[in-house]
Amino acid sequence: MRILLTGGAGFIGSHLSDRLLKEKHQVVVIDNLITGRLENIAHLAGREDFSFVKHDVSNFIFIPGKIDIVLHLASPASPNPSSPFGYPQLPIQTLKVGSLGTHNALGVARAHDARFLLASTSEVYGDPQEHPQQESYWGHVDPIGPRSVYDEAKRFAESITMAYHRYHGLKTHIARIFNTYGPRMRLDDGRVIPNFICQAIKGDPLTVYGDGSQTRSFCYVDDLVDGLYKLLTSEEHTPVNLGNPKEMTILELASTINRLTDNPADIQIMPDQRAPADPQRRQPDITRAKEILGWEPQVDLDHGLMQTIEDFRDRL
Ligand code: NAD
Ligand code: UDP
Repeated sequence: MRILLTGGAGFIGSHLSDRLLKEKHQVVVIDNLITGRLENIAHLAGREDFSFVKHDVSNFIFIPGKIDIVLHLASPASPNPSSPFGYPQLPIQTLKVGSLGTHNALGVARAHDARFLLASTSEVYGDPQEHPQQESYWGHVDPIGPRSVYDEAKRFAESITMAYHRYHGLKTHIARIFNTYGPRMRLDDGRVIPNFICQAIKGDPLTVYGDGSQTRSFCYVDDLVDGLYKLLTSEEHTPVNLGNPKEMTILELASTINRLTDNPADIQIMPDQRAPADPQRRQPDITRAKEILGWEPQVDLDHGLMQTIEDFRDRL
C-alpha cells in the first residue's frame, strides 16, 4: 500500500512511519513542522519507500501518484499554555488543521478511494463526568474554554469523518487516543512526561500543577502504534478508544519518575499553574478495542518510562 501520513514528523507519526515501513508499505509524510521535528524521521531519509513533503495540510493537498490509505495525525497536541509548541499558543493553526486540514485529508482519500484514519483524542470527552470513559459518552466540553481550540476541532474532525463515511461511503476509522508517551517527544512541548523527565535528569524538583490529585492513564507509544495499525486493518468505522487503562495521579507519576532517575530533588507543588479546564480524571475503557481489535497495551510504565528517559538523556 502507498500511505499518506499527515503529521508524520511528529512524535506518534514518526513511530507509525517506522511501523508502516516495517509492514512493507510505502510512506509519504506531509508535515509543516509546526510542532514536529525532522530529526524524528532523519533515519528514514534516502529510503526508496519513504518520502517527505513539507506542507501545511490546512491548505489544498496535492500528491502525485496513487494513494491507498490516508492517516491524518497532523495537529498540535500539547495543552500547556507556557510552551510555544502547546496549542494555546497556536489556537488558529489548531482549529484550522482539525477542520480544514481534516477536510483536505478526507478529500484526498475520496479522490483516491482510499481508506482514512483520523487521530482523534480523549479530549473529545473534555473534563469527563463519566469514568472511565466509554466511546458512547458524549463528553463535557466548554465550547469557548481554553482547551476548546483543540477539543472542538477534534470533535468537528470526527463529525466530518463520519459525514464522509455516511454520505460518500468512504472507509473511515476514528482512534480516540489517550495520553501517549515515549522517545522522540519534544523536550519542550510542556506535556507532563517530557517536563518531569527533563527536570529529573537535571536534578530539579518536578513541577506538579494543582495538588497533583488529578489522574491520567499513560500508554507507551509502541502499544499505541500497534492499536492504530490494528484499527486500520479492521472494518470498524465508529470511534475506538486507544490508551492504557492503568490510571494514576500526577503525584504518583512524579514519584515514579524520581525513583527511576534517582533524582535527589523533591516535588514542587504549584497550585496556580493548574489550567482552569484541566480534566480531573481520565481513564480509557478499552473494552471495545479488546473485543473488536484484540488489542490491549503490553508495555508496563516502568519499562516505557526507562526507554523514554534513555532517549531524553541522549538528547539533553
Ligand atoms: P506532535 O506535535 O509530535 O505531532 C503532530 C505533527 O503534526 C507535528 O509533526 C506537526 O508539525 C504536524 N502538524 C501540525 N499541524 C500541521 C499542519 N497544519 N500541516 C502539516 N502538519 C502539521 O504530536 P503527537 O503527540 O505526535 O500527536 C499526533 C496526533 O495524535 C495529533 O493529531 C494529536 O491530536 C493526537 N493525539 C496525541 C496524543 C498524545 O498523547 N500524544 C493524545 C491524543 C491524541
Ligand atoms: N502537569 C503537571 N506538571 C507539568 C505539566 C503538566 O502537573 O509540568 C499536569 C497537568 O496539569 C495535567 C497533567 O499533568 O493535569 C497532564 O498534562 P499534559 O500536559 O501532559 O496533558 P493532558 O493530559 O492535560 O492533555
